Amino acid sequence: MPEFDLVIQGGSLVTHENVTRMDIGIRGENIAAWGTNLEGKETIDASGLLVLPGGVDPHVHLQMPTPTTITSDDWNSGTLAAACGGTTTVIDFVEPNPGQSLQDALQQRKAEANDSSWVDFALHMTITDSSDETLKQIPAMMKAGVSSFKLYTTYDGMKLDYPGIFIVMKKISASGGICMVHAEDDLLIQRATQNLISEGRIAPQNFPFSRPPSAELEAVNQCIELAWESKVNLYLVHLSTSQSIRAVSVARYNHIKVIAETCPQYLLLDQQAILHGSAIEAAALVCSPPLREVFEKELIWNALEIGQIQSVGSDHCSFRIHPQKEIGLGDFRKVPGGLPGIELRYPLMHTYGVLNQCISLQNWVNICSTQPAKIFGIFPQKGSLAVGSDADIVLFDPQKKLTINPELLHEQVDYSPYNGVELTGYPVMTIVKGQVLIKDGNFIEQKKSGKFLHCGLPEFM
Ligand SMILES: [Zn+2]
Repeated sequence: MPEFDLVIQGGSLVTHENVTRMDIGIRGENIAAWGTNLEGKETIDASGLLVLPGGVDPHVHLQMPTPTTITSDDWNSGTLAAACGGTTTVIDFVEPNPGQSLQDALQQRKAEANDSSWVDFALHMTITDSSDETLKQIPAMMKAGVSSFKLYTTYDGMKLDYPGIFIVMKKISASGGICMVHAEDDLLIQRATQNLISEGRIAPQNFPFSRPPSAELEAVNQCIELAWESKVNLYLVHLSTSQSIRAVSVARYNHIKVIAETCPQYLLLDQQAILHGSAIEAAALVCSPPLREVFEKELIWNALEIGQIQSVGSDHCSFRIHPQKEIGLGDFRKVPGGLPGIELRYPLMHTYGVLNQCISLQNWVNICSTQPAKIFGIFPQKGSLAVGSDADIVLFDPQKKLTINPELLHEQVDYSPYNGVELTGYPVMTIVKGQVLIKDGNFIEQKKSGKFLHCGLPEFM
């Protein structure tokens, strides 16, 4: 009787620490052994392939309502797309309605995802006010498995002012949780937007000027100071400029607990296509913070290379061009903001990070899987190939060539910001908790097994 349910044979196991030629034995939902000549009821030949821990995407928005529409990917399509691209854990958000308790909003969001998600998921809690009533619910959230809380410095109905942010940070700090901030200074955005309006420049091509790099830097600096005073673990989402990443780096040097997240779009895309494209092309690329000037990309790659970025999330927030993005063709303020990216994050970082010799294979796995799992308290259950970890495993063909087009992808969108981009290396198999979910782009029928992940205390490095 074979000892394992499944054995992956002959592949190169890539962890955040090293690359090893070894077989992996899986029993039930877990990795049970590393070794040679392991015997399984089933065996998968992985020679020539990289064997990776499934990606952990710390920042996605699935099935998220906005004032005018709802994101085009729901839990079903979004997590299937994630798995196709090698991501087997996603962390999304709970956004309580005004007056709704955090507990209630959490239950509702969990229920929504439970029967629909193909991969395990965790949740960040959005906090939009600093009242005692709200803050006293934070410890209960920590117990319920939500250890990260998201604040906004901008967006009406979501934003907190800096004194409010400080009050919330102190409470999160006392509970040992993580404070995530969308950092773009609201006053500077309003001023820039008013200027554009007074000049009649409201077509989508003007959007990047409404949210200048200075707005990001200002809010980043403010939040770092408040984190220093409150001693909170600060996680700055989607940093898009080299200056704000440098600000984080200086803060870290001074032992302030702050983490910089960036996204593939800030490494690979820039605002040229918005400024010089048609209104529809511009609207398709509207996201906040906006895509930046060309030179920023290289500087952000440099920052990644020297270890100034600790996490790469997709900030997947997908809207179709027809009929969603086109709502704002005449006015950039009405364009639903966000880009798709859940499917390509891991592969893009391979081609443009590893193959360009910016990061090693180990760093690639670390930044796309292990480190996000550690930061959000789900390591080593996720983000790891160690014995005992969940058998969320990706077989990745480092030679496979692909040219991106929307038909190839499983995201529910009618475009891809990466259309025409060439990839070398792509997942050929995704295993979720011991079950083969996707093989060569085909779905192997099975039940959706995504469950809510209980996040523990963060590991801030
Ligand atoms: Zn986001």
